[in-house]
Order: sequence, then C-alpha cells, then structure tokens
Amino acid sequence: MIKKIAVTGGVHGNELTGAYVVKKWEPPKFSDIEVTKILANPKAFKACRRYIDYDLNRSFHKEALNLDSHIYEYERAKVLNGRLKSFDFLIDLHTTTANLGATIVLSSTDEISTAVAKSAAVKSGAKIIRWLSNEEGAFINSVTDHSVTIEVGPVCQGVLDPTIYQRSLDVLNAVLETIESKNFVNSGPVECYEIFGYVDYPRDVHGELEGMIHPELIGRDFSPIEKGEEIFLGFDSKSIRYDGDRAYALFINEAAYYEKSIAFCLARKITI
Ligand SMILES: [Zn+2]
Repeated sequence: MIKKIAVTGGVHGNELTGAYVVKKWEPPKFSDIEVTKILANPKAFKACRRYIDYDLNRSFHKEALNLDSHIYEYERAKVLNGRLKSFDFLIDLHTTTANLGATIVLSSTDEISTAVAKSAAVKSGAKIIRWLSNEEGAFINSVTDHSVTIEVGPVCQGVLDPTIYQRSLDVLNAVLETIESKNFVNSGPVECYEIFGYVDYPRDVHGELEGMIHPELIGRDFSPIEKGEEIFLGFDSKSIRYDGDRAYALFINEAAYYEKSIAFCLARKITI
C-alpha cells in the first residue's frame, strides 16, 4: 500500500524546474496519499550549480553513506537517506538539455514502480526509459523501495521554461493520480527504452574533445542509429561514424554528461 510519497527536486541544483516545483507547486488534495516536497540540494540550488563537490545523484551507494567525508553531497545523501526511508514512493524531478521530451525513468524493475510508470506514461504521453545502473554509484531512487524519475527536456541548465515546467507537472500529476487511484496494475504492455551502453566524444590522449555531436544527430533523441551513420563532427571538419549495432540514441549532447564521458546513451526498445 503506497501512502507516503516524497517529491524531490533540485537534486541537481541548476535544474530549476524541479527545484521550483518543490518550492512553489501546491500538490492537489488527495484522500489516500500524502505528498511531501523536498528540495534535495539547497546549497547547489543557491549556487545554481549541478553540485557543490560531487553529483548528489551518484552519492547514495553504501560506501558514500558510511564514509565520514568532506564531500558536501555525501553528507547531504546521508541526511536524505535518513529522511526518505520512511516514504513508500519517491518521485524525483529532473531536466535535461537533450531533446528528450517528457520521460519517466525507471531505475529498478520492481513491479509497483513499473506499473505506476506504465500507467502514468499512458495517461500523460510520456515515454519510459529504463536505466538500471550507473558505474559511479547509486541514484537517490535507491533509498525507497519504489520510485520513478521524471526527466523533461530540452531546457538549458539554470533556466526556467514554462512549457517544460508545465510538462513536468503534467507527468507528476499523472503519477500521483495513478498512485491515488490504485488502478495501475493492468495497463498492458508498454514500450520502453532500456539503456545498455554509452558513447563518448572523440578525445585526444589528454581527454580533450576532438569533435562535437554531428549536426545530423543533434536533437534526434529516440531515433535509431545505424552502423556507418555520422555521429560526430571533428574540429578538422571530418565526420566520425557510428561503429556499433543498431540502437536508439538518448540524452544526445546532455550538458552534464561531458564530464561523465557520455556523448549519448545507447538504448534498446523493449516492451514492459
Ligand atoms: Zn538531473
């Protein structure tokens, strides 16, 4: 039974949409569920930076939670971990600079999160992405048993866009209505993009960029890419071509992923 729901925004301090949703939005009155809003990284929000010392959304792994650390986000993760433990469901709000549209990201395969995501996606027209692991550490979603992330774009870091704000609220309301109605168990098979790999930018031996996303690929999130397709444009004006198997490109040119060595993610289309 899902009763206590946490809505977190500003896990990344320069993603203003989620931060302002938790600061300004008044949740509708529900009879069976209780919604609590949490500004996840107030210090980074104030500084309008993604993070102060380290990505908060990679700071929830056991090692970070048990370490006495000087890293601000590790300490913040401990606070959030303690606070969020008593909640049944977490909705975490993010934005992306990539042309993703409205998406619901699943970071676990548990039945309840999946069922809520499917029903809310059908209701709101959002696409579903499944992103089960990241090498750097655990997402904030790992704190509660059930969760979804709402990720909407494109919008610049440090910028509010009314369309993106409204679209985020549409998906958030669809998730809350789904949970309140408890009528999410049988929504039938729904399309989902499962991330399985990453492609980094061309770089020199020092890690410096040697090219950009190819103009033909910019903005083409959710489109299939085929072997031989142009994916990067070198600073020498030569094109670099894709060398892998057919896949769907997601988070193309996401600003925050340059430091993570991700030019775009590779996904396969599945049904869940
Ligand atoms: Zn984010």
